Amino acid sequence: PDFASLGLSEPLLKALAEKGYSKPTPIQAQAIPVVLMGQDVLGVAQTGTGKTASFTLPMLDILAGSRARARMPRSLILEPTRELALQVAENFVQYGKNLKLNHALLIGGESMAEQKEALTKGVDVLIATPGRLIDLFERGGLLLRDVRVLVIDEADRMLDMGFIPDIERIVTMLPTNRQTLFFSATMAPEIRRLADAFLNTPKEITV
Ligand code: AMP
Repeated sequence: PDFASLGLSEPLLKALAEKGYSKPTPIQAQAIPVVLMGQDVLGVAQTGTGKTASFTLPMLDILAGSRARARMPRSLILEPTRELALQVAENFVQYGKNLKLNHALLIGGESMAEQKEALTKGVDVLIATPGRLIDLFERGGLLLRDVRVLVIDEADRMLDMGFIPDIERIVTMLPTNRQTLFFSATMAPEIRRLADAFLNTPKEITV
Protein backbone atom coordinates (compact mmCIF):
# COMPACT_ATOMS: atom_id res chain seq x y z
CA PRO A 1 0.00 0.00 0.00
CA ASP A 2 0.96 3.66 -0.20
CA PHE A 3 0.36 6.29 2.50
CA ALA A 4 -2.66 7.77 0.68
CA SER A 5 -4.51 4.44 0.73
CA LEU A 6 -4.16 4.28 4.53
CA GLY A 7 -6.52 7.25 4.92
CA LEU A 8 -4.10 9.99 5.94
CA SER A 9 -4.94 13.60 5.06
CA GLU A 10 -3.32 15.73 2.35
CA PRO A 11 -1.24 17.87 4.73
CA LEU A 12 0.37 14.72 6.12
CA LEU A 13 0.90 13.14 2.70
CA LYS A 14 2.63 16.32 1.63
CA ALA A 15 4.94 16.27 4.68
CA LEU A 16 5.76 12.60 4.04
CA ALA A 17 6.55 13.24 0.39
CA GLU A 18 8.84 16.10 1.40
CA LYS A 19 10.54 13.83 3.89
CA GLY A 20 11.14 11.35 1.07
CA TYR A 21 9.18 8.40 2.46
CA SER A 22 7.91 6.42 -0.51
CA LYS A 23 5.90 3.74 1.26
CA PRO A 24 4.74 2.77 4.74
CA THR A 25 6.67 0.21 6.77
CA PRO A 26 4.74 -2.94 7.83
CA ILE A 27 3.79 -1.55 11.26
CA GLN A 28 2.64 1.70 9.65
CA ALA A 29 0.56 -0.11 7.01
CA GLN A 30 -1.17 -2.16 9.70
CA ALA A 31 -1.51 0.37 12.52
CA ILE A 32 -2.43 3.63 10.76
CA PRO A 33 -5.91 2.58 9.49
CA VAL A 34 -6.73 1.01 12.86
CA VAL A 35 -5.74 4.14 14.80
CA LEU A 36 -7.68 6.37 12.40
CA MET A 37 -10.79 4.25 13.05
CA GLY A 38 -10.42 4.87 16.77
CA GLN A 39 -9.48 1.34 17.81
CA ASP A 40 -6.87 0.53 20.47
CA VAL A 41 -3.57 -0.97 19.31
CA LEU A 42 -1.17 -3.41 20.92
CA GLY A 43 1.97 -3.11 18.80
CA VAL A 44 4.84 -5.53 19.28
CA ALA A 45 7.65 -3.78 17.44
CA GLN A 46 11.25 -2.76 17.96
CA THR A 47 12.74 0.68 17.43
CA GLY A 48 13.76 1.03 13.79
CA THR A 49 10.55 -0.45 12.38
CA GLY A 50 8.93 2.95 11.85
CA LYS A 51 6.81 2.51 14.97
CA THR A 52 6.93 6.21 15.93
CA ALA A 53 5.25 7.33 12.70
CA SER A 54 2.70 4.52 13.06
CA PHE A 55 1.18 6.42 15.99
CA THR A 56 2.30 10.00 15.29
CA LEU A 57 0.76 10.26 11.82
CA PRO A 58 -2.78 9.09 12.64
CA MET A 59 -2.76 11.05 15.92
CA LEU A 60 -2.08 14.24 13.98
CA ASP A 61 -5.13 13.56 11.82
CA ILE A 62 -7.31 12.67 14.82
CA LEU A 63 -6.34 15.87 16.64
CA ALA A 64 -6.45 18.23 13.65
CA GLY A 65 -9.48 20.46 13.43
CA SER A 66 -10.01 21.37 17.07
CA ARG A 67 -7.95 23.14 19.71
CA ALA A 68 -6.68 22.36 23.17
CA ARG A 69 -7.64 24.28 26.27
CA ALA A 70 -5.12 25.71 28.74
CA ARG A 71 -3.41 23.06 30.89
CA MET A 72 -5.58 20.36 29.30
CA PRO A 73 -3.60 18.34 26.75
CA ARG A 74 -5.72 16.33 24.30
CA SER A 75 -3.26 13.50 23.94
CA LEU A 76 -0.46 12.06 26.03
CA ILE A 77 2.60 10.11 24.92
CA LEU A 78 4.63 8.42 27.63
CA GLU A 79 8.27 7.65 26.89
CA PRO A 80 10.81 5.99 29.21
CA THR A 81 13.64 8.46 28.54
CA ARG A 82 14.06 12.12 27.69
CA GLU A 83 15.99 11.18 24.53
CA LEU A 84 13.06 9.15 23.20
CA ALA A 85 10.66 11.94 24.16
CA LEU A 86 12.76 14.43 22.19
CA GLN A 87 12.78 12.11 19.15
CA VAL A 88 9.00 11.80 19.24
CA ALA A 89 8.66 15.58 19.51
CA GLU A 90 10.89 15.93 16.45
CA ASN A 91 8.56 13.56 14.56
CA PHE A 92 5.56 15.72 15.46
CA VAL A 93 7.31 18.82 14.20
CA GLN A 94 8.27 17.20 10.89
CA TYR A 95 5.05 15.35 10.08
CA GLY A 96 2.80 18.06 11.47
CA LYS A 97 4.42 21.01 9.74
CA ASN A 98 1.33 21.63 7.55
CA LEU A 99 -1.10 21.34 10.48
CA LYS A 100 -1.69 23.86 13.23
CA LEU A 101 -1.13 21.60 16.20
CA ASN A 102 1.24 22.15 19.05
CA HIS A 103 3.10 19.90 21.43
CA ALA A 104 4.90 20.28 24.73
CA LEU A 105 7.55 18.22 26.45
CA LEU A 106 7.50 17.28 30.12
CA ILE A 107 10.88 15.70 30.73
CA GLY A 108 13.54 15.75 33.39
CA GLY A 109 16.65 17.87 33.06
CA GLU A 110 14.79 20.94 31.77
CA SER A 111 13.20 23.87 33.54
CA MET A 112 9.89 22.91 35.14
CA ALA A 113 8.75 26.55 35.00
CA GLU A 114 9.12 26.67 31.21
CA GLN A 115 7.32 23.38 30.73
CA LYS A 116 4.50 24.59 32.96
CA GLU A 117 4.31 27.81 30.98
CA ALA A 118 4.08 25.89 27.69
CA LEU A 119 1.11 23.94 29.06
CA THR A 120 -0.86 27.05 29.93
CA LYS A 121 -1.05 27.90 26.22
CA GLY A 122 -3.02 24.77 25.43
CA VAL A 123 -1.31 21.66 24.13
CA ASP A 124 -2.61 19.14 21.62
CA VAL A 125 0.15 16.61 22.23
CA LEU A 126 1.96 16.23 25.54
CA ILE A 127 5.10 14.09 25.37
CA ALA A 128 6.30 13.12 28.83
CA THR A 129 8.43 10.89 30.96
CA PRO A 130 6.42 9.42 33.86
CA GLY A 131 8.24 11.00 36.82
CA ARG A 132 8.05 14.57 35.56
CA LEU A 133 4.42 14.16 34.58
CA ILE A 134 3.41 12.98 38.05
CA ASP A 135 5.46 15.77 39.61
CA LEU A 136 3.69 18.50 37.66
CA PHE A 137 0.29 16.86 38.09
CA GLU A 138 0.77 16.87 41.86
CA ARG A 139 1.64 20.57 41.78
CA GLY A 140 -1.65 21.25 40.03
CA GLY A 141 -0.10 22.40 36.76
CA LEU A 142 -1.84 19.83 34.61
CA LEU A 143 -5.37 18.57 34.00
CA LEU A 144 -5.70 15.25 32.23
CA ARG A 145 -9.45 14.94 31.74
CA ASP A 146 -9.32 16.04 28.09
CA VAL A 147 -6.88 13.30 27.07
CA ARG A 148 -8.53 11.34 24.26
CA VAL A 149 -5.48 9.43 23.02
CA LEU A 150 -2.84 7.80 25.24
CA VAL A 151 0.36 6.28 23.89
CA ILE A 152 2.51 4.06 26.07
CA ASP A 153 5.71 3.58 24.12
CA GLU A 154 8.54 1.13 24.85
CA ALA A 155 6.58 -0.59 27.64
CA ASP A 156 9.32 -3.18 28.13
CA ARG A 157 11.84 -0.43 28.84
CA MET A 158 9.37 1.20 31.21
CA LEU A 159 9.31 -2.12 33.05
CA ASP A 160 13.12 -2.41 33.14
CA MET A 161 13.38 1.13 34.49
CA GLY A 162 10.84 0.56 37.27
CA PHE A 163 8.20 2.92 35.82
CA ILE A 164 5.24 0.55 35.88
CA PRO A 165 3.77 1.85 39.19
CA ASP A 166 4.02 5.41 37.80
CA ILE A 167 2.31 4.38 34.56
CA GLU A 168 -0.47 2.65 36.45
CA ARG A 169 -0.99 5.78 38.49
CA ILE A 170 -1.03 8.05 35.46
CA VAL A 171 -3.62 5.87 33.73
CA THR A 172 -5.96 6.24 36.71
CA MET A 173 -5.86 10.04 36.15
CA LEU A 174 -7.09 9.73 32.56
CA PRO A 175 -10.63 9.42 31.23
CA THR A 176 -11.63 5.78 30.73
CA ASN A 177 -13.27 6.87 27.49
CA ARG A 178 -10.05 7.21 25.49
CA GLN A 179 -8.07 5.50 22.75
CA THR A 180 -4.92 3.70 23.92
CA LEU A 181 -1.93 2.73 21.80
CA PHE A 182 0.54 0.46 23.54
CA PHE A 183 3.92 -0.52 22.13
CA SER A 184 6.55 -2.91 23.38
CA ALA A 185 9.48 -4.71 21.78
CA THR A 186 8.69 -7.86 23.75
CA MET A 187 5.63 -9.35 25.41
CA ALA A 188 6.75 -10.55 28.84
CA PRO A 189 3.90 -11.69 31.15
CA GLU A 190 4.05 -8.43 33.12
CA ILE A 191 3.71 -6.44 29.89
CA ARG A 192 0.78 -8.60 28.78
CA ARG A 193 -0.93 -7.98 32.12
CA LEU A 194 -0.57 -4.22 31.66
CA ALA A 195 -1.80 -4.34 28.10
CA ASP A 196 -4.87 -6.28 29.25
CA ALA A 197 -5.51 -3.68 31.96
CA PHE A 198 -5.10 -0.59 29.77
CA LEU A 199 -6.46 -1.62 26.37
CA ASN A 200 -10.01 -2.12 25.21
CA THR A 201 -10.32 -4.89 22.56
CA PRO A 202 -7.09 -3.85 20.85
CA LYS A 203 -5.91 -4.81 17.42
CA GLU A 204 -2.71 -6.77 18.04
CA ILE A 205 0.04 -6.08 15.52
CA THR A 206 3.36 -7.91 15.58
CA VAL A 207 6.12 -7.02 13.14
P1 AMP B 1 11.33 4.39 14.46
O1 AMP B 1 11.19 2.90 14.43
O2 AMP B 1 10.02 5.07 14.68
O3 AMP B 1 12.37 4.83 15.46
O4 AMP B 1 11.84 4.86 13.02
C1 AMP B 1 13.08 4.46 12.50
C2 AMP B 1 13.58 5.35 11.38
O5 AMP B 1 12.87 5.08 10.16
C3 AMP B 1 13.42 6.83 11.62
O6 AMP B 1 14.63 7.46 11.29
C4 AMP B 1 12.33 7.26 10.68
O7 AMP B 1 12.51 8.60 10.26
C5 AMP B 1 12.44 6.30 9.53
N1 AMP B 1 11.15 5.99 8.86
C6 AMP B 1 9.95 5.81 9.46
N2 AMP B 1 9.00 5.50 8.57
C7 AMP B 1 9.59 5.46 7.35
C8 AMP B 1 9.12 5.18 6.01
N3 AMP B 1 7.85 4.88 5.78
N4 AMP B 1 10.03 5.25 5.01
C9 AMP B 1 11.32 5.54 5.27
N5 AMP B 1 11.82 5.81 6.48
C10 AMP B 1 10.98 5.78 7.53
